[in-house]
Amino acid sequence: VIALSPESACVIGIEINMEQLCLVRTSLNGQIEETIRVPLRQIDRSNINEEIAKRIKDLAKNAHSRLLGIGIGVPGHHDQQNDRIITNNPAWNAFRKAEIERLLDLNVPIYIENNIECMAYGRYLFQPQATPDEFILLHVGPGVYCSFFDAAMIGRKKSDYFGEIGHSVIDINGTLYECGKRGCLQTYIAHNWLLQRASIYYAHGSSSVLLSLAKTKEDLSIQTLIEAYRLHDPYVRTILEDGLDRLAITISNLLIVNDASRIFMNSEVLQEPLLQHYFLEKMHEQFRFILNFESVPVEILNFRSDRGAQGACALALYERLINHSDPDAFFCEQA
Ligand SMILES: [Zn+2]
Repeated sequence: VIALSPESACVIGIEINMEQLCLVRTSLNGQIEETIRVPLRQIDRSNINEEIAKRIKDLAKNAHSRLLGIGIGVPGHHDQQNDRIITNNPAWNAFRKAEIERLLDLNVPIYIENNIECMAYGRYLFQPQATPDEFILLHVGPGVYCSFFDAAMIGRKKSDYFGEIGHSVIDINGTLYECGKRGCLQTYIAHNWLLQRASIYYAHGSSSVLLSLAKTKEDLSIQTLIEAYRLHDPYVRTILEDGLDRLAITISNLLIVNDASRIFMNSEVLQEPLLQHYFLEKMHEQFRFILNFESVPVEILNFRSDRGAQGACALALYERLINHSDPDAFFCEQA
């Protein structure tokens, strides 16, 4: 058996999303050596390139082996030609790969991919025994996105909307979203929408449970909502269960047209056993039309806030060691 010597080099992965900037340095088998996490509110988004470069330098400084590459997982898609992130969120307007490269001056390649696609790379490369060659990885967080991973098709060009399952319409008369459509799945289950609903409810003073859990409406977090669910707050129960109903319907519709052998779900909300049970029940309800149907191929992953950053390390490793036009080059450079 030929295997990589894990400590012979390292990679740095970064994920930026609406909640945090997370950076990790890993060995070649994905073992995390060092982590930096900064909540988004502490970051000057107009200086996002400096913010990222500064922290990459910190991680690179402490590396005890050669830095092979850098991966960055971004929300939305990176338009390579114009070097910018394509998203309907203006928060990332200042992001430029070229500027990060200039600030770093490390002579190490940087690769960029959608953050959830990065998680799929991480799943495939770092946990190969537990991962089929084809799978779906669905992430529910500040947004909702779906990676359709196929080892035989890595790196193929996809359209800018592919995987944007958060924008699938689940209610044609639903809430108008900033994307211009009504009733997108995102408006029912994405964290910022759940929090927005809960904060209106909080401001009305209608929930003694929420008032006891958060001093101000700014203190509300997804963890507060999960706790309020456990404490039987009727409104929080309604919005979380409604969101999960719609998520289950969306995934069931997806499974009818996509023959996935496994769906991995990365969701903080589904870490709560009661909510997980509720969700899986709803999934089963959707498949009752099939006789003798035993189980849906859904696997709920343990939620980790560094999953995207670790996945970005897998992206860098894939590009440097697997997709390299001349695989010998790296080892010759070493020699
Ligand atoms: Zn939408």
